[in-house]
Amino acid sequence: MQDTRRRVPRTDVVLDDPALAPALERLGRARVKAGVVAALEACRAGRVAPEDVVVAVLDDLPAAPVSLRRVLNATGVVVHTNLGRAPLSPAAVEALALAAGATDVELDLDSGLRGPRGAAALAALAAAVPDAGGVHVVNNGAAALALATCALAAGREVVVSRGELVEIGDGFRIPELMESLGARLREVGTTNRVHLEDYERAVGERTAFVLKVHPSNFRVEGFTSSVPVEALTGLGVPVVADIGSGLLAPHPRLPDEPDAATTLRAGADLVTASGDKLLGGPQAGLLLGGAALVQRLRRHPFARALRVDKLTLAALEATLTGPAPPVAAALASRPDDLLARARRLATAIGGPAEAVASEGRVGGGGAPGVPLPSAAVALPHHLAAPLRHGDPAVVGHVHDGRLLLDLLALPGSDDAALVEGVRRVLAADGGR
Ligand SMILES: *Cc1c(COP(=O)(O)O)cnc(C)c1O
Repeated sequence: MQDTRRRVPRTDVVLDDPALAPALERLGRARVKAGVVAALEACRAGRVAPEDVVVAVLDDLPAAPVSLRRVLNATGVVVHTNLGRAPLSPAAVEALALAAGATDVELDLDSGLRGPRGAAALAALAAAVPDAGGVHVVNNGAAALALATCALAAGREVVVSRGELVEIGDGFRIPELMESLGARLREVGTTNRVHLEDYERAVGERTAFVLKVHPSNFRVEGFTSSVPVEALTGLGVPVVADIGSGLLAPHPRLPDEPDAATTLRAGADLVTASGDKLLGGPQAGLLLGGAALVQRLRRHPFARALRVDKLTLAALEATLTGPAPPVAAALASRPDDLLARARRLATAIGGPAEAVASEGRVGGGGAPGVPLPSAAVALPHHLAAPLRHGDPAVVGHVHDGRLLLDLLALPGSDDAALVEGVRRVLAADGGR
C-alpha cells in the first residue's frame, strides 16, 4: 500500500501523456484535468494501479463535449417537445457544421461589401410558399407573434375568440405574451362557440388586428363553432393567423391541420408558425404575409432582438431545399412497412421482444387527437427505466402493462443502435 502511494504519478505528468492528447483537444484542459485528479484519487486509495491511471481517465471521460445525452425516440410521438421537437435532417446537420465557422452570411463575395443577412434561407421560404408576398424569420413561434403584436398592436386592441386563448406548454400563454407587449385583448364568443357577429361587434377604431390561433394541443368537441379565416377577412382590419405547426402546404394525413399556403389564400394578412414542429427544421418563428406588412415588421426596432443566428438560417435553408426531414419521413411512413420493420427488430433483439401494431401521434406540434397507425417492439415494462439510463437512452412508452418501443418517430438509421441498446439491457436484466 505504502509503495503504491509513493508510485502515484503527478498530475502534470499524467496530463502530458500522449494518450490523453486527443481528449485534451476535444474536451478541453479543465475537463480532462478533473478526470486525472479523480483517477489519481482512486490510485491513492488503491483502487487503480499506477500504470492504469491513464486508461481510467479515458474510461471516465464523457464521449461528447456536452452533457446532452442522445435519445432514441421510440415514443411514437413525431414532434416530441421534451426530446427537442423536430430532429434535423442530415443535410441540415451538415449545414449547421458549415455555418459554425466563418461564412458569407452577411457578405457579398462579388462586391466585397456587406450583403443581406440570411437571404438564401428567406428566399427558400418564399419559394416554398409562393402565396406569401413577404417572409421573415425570428427566434420561435412566440417571437413571431410578439413581433406582430409589438409592431402592430401596442396600445391598441387585438380581437380574439375565447376558444383560442391557449396555453402552449411550460406555462406559455399567448394572451399573456401579447398583453405584456402593450396590446389589449378583446375577447369574443365563448369557450366552445364564436360567430362572425361576435367579431363584428368587437371590431372598431382601436382594433389593430383580428387574431386566429390554432389550438394545436387540444380539441374542443361537441357543440362548437368557430369562424374561418375567409369570413374574418371582410371585417376591414388585418387578420393574423397563428397556425402553430409550420405546415407550409396541406398534408394528406393531417386534413385538419392548418397550413400557411391555404391560410394565406383564404385571405390572412399575416401567418405565424414554428420552424421546429411539422416543418421539421430548427427552432424558428416564421412570418409570412403581404410584402408591405412583412417589411414593416422586419424594419421594426424590436425585430433585432428576435433575430435568428447563423446556425438557424443554415439549418432552415437546408431543411427547405434539401431532402425531406425526419418529421416528413415519419408522416409518410406506411403501417405495413413499420410492422415489417418491428418484426425484423424483434427477431434481432430476441428474448421477450415481440412486434405489435401501435398508434403514434404528431405530438405537441399539432394534429391533437389524430392517431397515426404505427408498429412497435413490445417488451416487459420493467425495462423502461434501464433503457432510459442507457447511452444512447431509449425512451418508449408503457401501454397496457407493456413497454412499447414505437418505430414511427425513430429514423431507420437508429435501428442498429436500438437493437444493440435493448440487447445490452436484456443481458444485464437476465444476469441479475
Ligand atoms: C407551438 C405554438 C406556439 C409557440 O411556438 P414556439 O415556436 O414554441 O415559440 C404558438 N402558437 C401555436 C398555435 C403553437 O402551436
